[in-house]
This record gives sequence, structure tokens and C-alpha cells, in this order.
Amino acid sequence: MADTFRAIVANKTDAGYASAIENITIDQLSEGDVIVDVAYSTLNYKDGLAVTGKGKICESFPMVCGIDLSGTVAESASADFKPGDKVVVNGYGLSQNHSGGYAEKARVRSDMLVKLPDGMDLKNAMAIGTAGYTAMLCVLALESHGVAPGNGEVLVTGAAGGVGSVAISILAKLGYTVVASTGRESTHAYLKDLGAAECIDRNTLSEAGKPFQRPRWAGVVDTVGSNTLANALAQTKYGGTVAACGLAGGPDLPTTVLPFILRGVTLAGIDSVEAPMAARKEAWARLAVDLPMDKLSAMSETIPLAKVIDIAPEILKGQVKGRVIVDVTA
Ligand code: NDP
Repeated sequence: MADTFRAIVANKTDAGYASAIENITIDQLSEGDVIVDVAYSTLNYKDGLAVTGKGKICESFPMVCGIDLSGTVAESASADFKPGDKVVVNGYGLSQNHSGGYAEKARVRSDMLVKLPDGMDLKNAMAIGTAGYTAMLCVLALESHGVAPGNGEVLVTGAAGGVGSVAISILAKLGYTVVASTGRESTHAYLKDLGAAECIDRNTLSEAGKPFQRPRWAGVVDTVGSNTLANALAQTKYGGTVAACGLAGGPDLPTTVLPFILRGVTLAGIDSVEAPMAARKEAWARLAVDLPMDKLSAMSETIPLAKVIDIAPEILKGQVKGRVIVDVTA
């Protein structure tokens, strides 16, 4: 009998939607030329949607959940990877149309893999995970549009979440003055410890506002969308850039063209799932240098694989702080 290993598998049947730990074989995984012994995965907002079935993430069933993973190459038919290589995978349809990281083994295409940068271990890689890699894509977008530390304050929304926490840590290390928008007063000390200069109540941004407001932000990392993103655009200074990556507050964008045509504001869209390999490699290389690892430890907790099923509903309610690492082997 083929060797079995544990995985969190989502199933949709006439009886309804359910995710559970199952013992599966390698043949039940999606096709690929590399087999990875998975060490860690993470819990992201999107994983919450996939595990609970509250969002249409999995495109077929049964589906191994988990949108990212770090691990060690066990077998490779690709010349680019050899057994023992430490690798990471983000997005590329993991948990959507390709079996994901919540399993002790993954079978993936070699063109999905990024080798870990020097100095980063498998656990830190998933403390960063998709949320941290997306945060770095946002920072790179601000930089490429000319937002420099001397230009003024940078707003981070959804600050105490995974993307927000990592974005604050990176921006502060790079010398930006960061203002953190959060709905949880209990996180203010945590956010200041990560490097936020000031915390503001997210309610100041979540109501419908005027299309053109007092300019304050040189740049914005927005994980919330909806009125929050519209207000952030309306408050961005001349020539500033807003990197939009999330929809924790809603997918709508009730704005006008005024910030764009009167202040030259740039709205930069950020996608981590299909990001080109060059952008991924740049993001991971910069994370190894520009994300303080002590801050990463302070914002991360580690849970065993089975606990994902209990915690998934909490991330959808915005009750999870920072990053959740999933120890797939525990
Ligand atoms: P988290 O759940 O960890 O963080 C989201 C944060 O948003 C919460 O912690 C909370 O922060 C805030 N929030 C939650 N609900 C609301 C609400 N109704 N109104 C305003 N703020 C709210 O998620 P992640 O950090 O992992 O992801 C953040 C967003 O980015 C998600 O929408 C996710 O889907 C998206 N994302 C997109 C990616 C891409 O490729 N574009 C990749 C990764 C994530 P606080 O308590 O501080 O207010």
C-alpha cells in the first residue's frame, strides 16, 4: 500500500461543505515535477475562506487547502531543483486549482518554486508567508512610484492583520513614518512596537467621505478596500501612491477620479497569486534584508495542522493578530 500522510482536505458534497484532516497518498495531489516535504504553511484570510467554505476559493473537490508552503525538496525531475533544496511556494492556485500547503507532502511544478534566500529558515519563511510577501510587493510598488521616507507619512490599513503587521515592520525599518489604522485599541502597543509612529481608529476611514480631503499621506498600503480605500485616496498628497491589495472591509471602491486628475495620485494594484517570478524573487530577497526578524517573531504564533480548522473562522472575524504559522508536521 502506498505511504499515506496527513492533509486538510475540503470537500463539497450533497451533505454540505466540510474540511477535515485526512490521510492521503501522493497520487491524490495535483501533478508536478517536484515533490516537497512540507515543513510549514500559514493561515491567511483566504485560507479562512477556503477552510470554512465562506468564500469560493477551491475550484474543485476534494481540495487540499493552504495557499502557501515552505519545505525541502524530496524528489525532483527538474534540473533547477535537487533534493535538499529549501523552497517556498505562494499562490499559483494553491488551494484553488492545485493541492495546497496543508499537507505533509506537496507535488508542485518547478516554475512555482522560489529557493529560500540565504539567512532565512523554513519557519521564518512561513512567518512571512503570503501575507508578508504581499506586504513587500506593496512596499516595492510604493518605492517604484517614488514614495521615499522623506516624503511624509505612510498609512497602513488593517494594521494588526498579517499584511498590515509586516508592512509596518518593513516600512519602519526603511525609515518611513508609519501611521497604523486599526479597529482594535488593544493592539496599539503591539503596532507601536512594530514601528508605527501613531495609531488611528479605523472608523475614521470606514464611513463614506468627501471625494477630495485634506492631503496627509505620501503613500498608503491598503488591505481593507471599500470606503477605507476611497478615503485613503482622497487624503493622499500630490503625486502619492496607494498600493491596494485587500478587501477585508469589502470589494467595492466608491471613489471619484478627483484624486487621480487633480493630485496625480497613483492607485497601484497588488496581486500575489500570479505575480511574475522576477517580482517574487525580488520580494523574497528584500524580505531577507528589510524585515527585522525580531519583529517577525513578535507578530507570529505557531499552531499544529489540526488547529487550523478551529482558527479559520476567527481570521474571517478579524480576531487574529499578526501571523499564524502552521506546523504541518505537528
Ligand atoms: P488578516 O485577517 O490577518 O488582516 C485583515 C485586517 O483587516 C484585520 O486584522 C483587521 O485589522 C482589518 N479588518 C478586518 N475586517 C475589517 C472591516 N470590516 N473593516 C475594516 N478593517 C477590517 O488578513 P491578511 O492580512 O492576511 O489579508 C488582508 C487582506 O489582504 C485580505 O482582504 C486578503 O484577502 C488580502 N490579501 C490579498 C493578497 C493579494 O494577492 N492581493 C494576498 C494576501 C492577502 P485591524 O484589527 O487592525 O483593524
